[in-house]
Amino acid sequence: MSDVVVEFFIRFAKKIIMNNITFTMIKPDAVENGHIGAILEKINSAGFKIIAMKYTKLSLEKAQKFYEIHKDRPFFNELVTFMSRGPIVAAILEKDNAVEDFRELIGSTNPADAKKGTIRNLYATSMGENAVHGSDSNENAKIEGTFHFSDSEILS
Ligand code: UDP
Ligand code: MG
Repeated sequence: MSDVVVEFFIRFAKKIIMNNITFTMIKPDAVENGHIGAILEKINSAGFKIIAMKYTKLSLEKAQKFYEIHKDRPFFNELVTFMSRGPIVAAILEKDNAVEDFRELIGSTNPADAKKGTIRNLYATSMGENAVHGSDSNENAKIEGTFHFSDSEILS
């Protein structure tokens, strides 16, 4: 088989597996603390390509919808109040193995447990105000990406 044909099949297989995008938000705490630039630099340096991005703000209702999966958890009200208190940066990121690699880059939910050099280790201030969001599965990456972006805003 020629290289071109092999390359075509590899690309096709990747699209079927769909392991190449994740969704992130730079949360209100990190925006307030002036970390947008540093966090985007970490994301780019780690090999992620930004294919959609916006500076925006979640209404309380939108934050409740985004985090609906956590609605019965004790921290839900605190979480949605925090996530709607100020601007965020929402983005879709592309890379092979995007979801897993991005979770590695951001570190554990609790910054006290986040590995040295991870985004949460560097910029998070608490378990709740932990600087960034990262999707936890390929399926959720797609759902969360389309929650924030229309087709015409995604430029891969
Ligand atoms: N969170 C919180 N208290 C907790 C657990 C989570 O305030 O005990 C917040 C935190 O901002 C976290 C978000 O809720 O990022 C979503 O929780 P999840 O367990 O999905 O963590 P993540 O996937 O963001 O690491
Ligand atoms: Mg999560």
